[in-house]
Amino acid sequence: MKTYYLKFKVIPTESNEHYTLVEGAWASCWVLENDPQSAYAQADFFIGKYDWLIEKVEEYPVEVTREFFIERDIGLEQYDKAQKEGFVIAYMAWSRDGKTTAGPFIQNPSFHFEIPNFLAKQKELSQSGRCLHFDGNHRCKNIVNAHSIQKNQSLVSISKDGHVYRLSPKFSIIKKNNGRLTYEKCGINRVSTFLGFCKKHDNELFEPIDNYPLLPTDQQVILYAYRSLCRELFVKENALRLIEDQLPNIPDGNSIKELLLGTKEGTAFGLKNLEEHKSIYDESLRGKSYFKIRYVLFISKQKPFVAFSGLLYPEFDFMGRHLQDLGDHQQTLDLITFCSAPLDSGWGVLFSWHESSSKSCVDFMRSLATMMHEGKHLGDLLFRMVISNCENLAIAPEWWDDLPQEQKEKIESKASSMANIFSMTKPSYLLEGLEGIASWDFESIIDNMN
Ligand SMILES: [Zn+2]
Repeated sequence: MKTYYLKFKVIPTESNEHYTLVEGAWASCWVLENDPQSAYAQADFFIGKYDWLIEKVEEYPVEVTREFFIERDIGLEQYDKAQKEGFVIAYMAWSRDGKTTAGPFIQNPSFHFEIPNFLAKQKELSQSGRCLHFDGNHRCKNIVNAHSIQKNQSLVSISKDGHVYRLSPKFSIIKKNNGRLTYEKCGINRVSTFLGFCKKHDNELFEPIDNYPLLPTDQQVILYAYRSLCRELFVKENALRLIEDQLPNIPDGNSIKELLLGTKEGTAFGLKNLEEHKSIYDESLRGKSYFKIRYVLFISKQKPFVAFSGLLYPEFDFMGRHLQDLGDHQQTLDLITFCSAPLDSGWGVLFSWHESSSKSCVDFMRSLATMMHEGKHLGDLLFRMVISNCENLAIAPEWWDDLPQEQKEKIESKASSMANIFSMTKPSYLLEGLEGIASWDFESIIDNMN
């Protein structure tokens, strides 16, 4: 992460605790971010949160170092604080009577987001089970904590004393842990599980992938895809309900509300697409008709050290080219799922999609082939893609504990960059980063793309 400095001329809103006395202020911001655009978006959000309106941008984001502030009276303290907290604003204000100035000071916002309330609601939602099986209904009893990552052969095989590392859920949607998510140790029964199937349907449906290695058959591929899809649907439904639950508690005009309203729109659109894709898979599974599933499987003889299951609407390919417009809410987005899977000997990375999503997904996979032909390391390309796009991922303690701290931080930064609500996805996000860390080698590829 880089440190950016920005400066604004601001005026207080009526909710601001200094409204009656203060006419205006200089707001200086120190932001830890990856690029100037994200730094600006974050500063803009926090200034609103602290009840100010931006009247003028005095200094656009400029990257700074600690040396820059050493000779100055103010700034050094704020710079150091930003390294720990990710963000600092200091104000120099002038009074309405024009006689006094004050500062630098740090102030309180008029509205505090109730984190405990938010977390309680989040927990309540994650514990409200429902059966997402294509024949599931209110009569489904005994909702189980289903694993979205293959458990018996995948999760167990990488665990140590029943534990793996996963991304820590201990971050709120607003405040970030020094701008970076971290991986924490966790029991495997709490990793990748979701209350999305009843026991009967879970056992029956996923039997061909829970009890047998991936060959792959079309049926196995569609089941892996379906499990990724159902888990994401469960998570997104909960996310939308959580936002809807929180919105009435936040005053109109507050920048947290603006941010949540934007997030709500994006989440609702993502969910609508997931529902449409699920209905296509439901129909295939109900009719036992699996021939429209497309896949590419990368086969490795190594011992795996990660297990994962995820999906994405591919926006950019491995060469940084644009594939589909995620902002166009009039269309249905192409969807690709991906996961790790145990094979008869070794393991594999499986990408799959329904034929109706072939337009973007075939281009996505072809760009990967092109990068391989250009001499890029396949293992690096896949590892980068998985870390960037998958929060539902478990890491073997035996591998993680031996990794140098600097490499751990690189992985965490890559995982965080996609979760950052203030930054847009960069077209080049699959082009570089995390080289030489995973040392994944793949012997062969099986696909049915054509
Ligand atoms: Zn059921």
